Amino acid sequence: MNLTNINTVRDILERHGFSFSKGLGQNFIINPDICPKIAEMGNAQSGYGVLEIGTGIGVLTAELAKRADKVCAVEIDTRLLPILEETLSDFDNIKIFNEDVMKCDLRKLIAEEFQGLHTAVCANLPYYITSPVIMLLLESRLPIDSITVMVQKEAAQRLCAKVGTRDSGAITVGVNYYGTVKSLFNVSRGSFMPAPNVDSAVIRIDLHSEHRLSEEDEKFFFRVVKSGFSQRRKTAANSISSLMGIPKEKVYSALKAVGLPETARIESLDMEQLIAFALELKGQC
Ligand code: SAM
Repeated sequence: MNLTNINTVRDILERHGFSFSKGLGQNFIINPDICPKIAEMGNAQSGYGVLEIGTGIGVLTAELAKRADKVCAVEIDTRLLPILEETLSDFDNIKIFNEDVMKCDLRKLIAEEFQGLHTAVCANLPYYITSPVIMLLLESRLPIDSITVMVQKEAAQRLCAKVGTRDSGAITVGVNYYGTVKSLFNVSRGSFMPAPNVDSAVIRIDLHSEHRLSEEDEKFFFRVVKSGFSQRRKTAANSISSLMGIPKEKVYSALKAVGLPETARIESLDMEQLIAFALELKGQC
């Protein structure tokens, strides 16, 4: 079944009485060049189990299943299940989990379903939870080799920004702490049904197998980073002190100890400075 043929897609959706949910970020890929590229650049290959987040009608799922040993896909929208039964009926290596990815036990899923396989994540992410999903995948320290995802162009710019520059955010620190990130290719809004208001881009994060900090230090580090960036107009000391409930004097003293001014802004700190500051602050708390 050609899931990038508009008439075929319209016919399936109509027969099942399906209407797109904006709230669930449902923009399905209809450009035939995109899914094979995501699959090929995203490690969908022999020896791999691929975790997909958000199947839609299965256009990317099918391309992943053609190449990888197994595909497990988490899809929240129950209305898509009968559609997927039809569109993916040719495959015997796909398992759909009708769940919210934010609540799904991904560690258990990977351990049970991808035994003896490497794991890669590939997805056209629902835009409303791009950052939470990526942070969840990273912070859970899951045994994943790579995360290849389509995101809105501005999100891609933030993900691929340099830590310590104005374009960076907590997510930039996250991807650069856990791995290395690369922008792969841009995708125009006309490649989707319905067409969104913005263009998209596909990025890939290759995850480090080792972590620089202990799990406990890492948790504290990301509390500091998220607090700092959530009020980025304020100085790092002001936002961290108010959101983490740490007396400002302690934050000043930690900044001073690592050679930073009291007026430092979180976005101007590079990775080494952020880590040194967070560890110093943790030591003082
Ligand atoms: N992969 C398909 C494609 O490229 O055509 C669909 C991509 S669409 C941008 C996002 C998909 O994620 C939708 O199918 C939507 O129902 C699903 N979704 C939205 N929120 C979700 C969540 N919290 N957990 C799992 N799936 C979700």
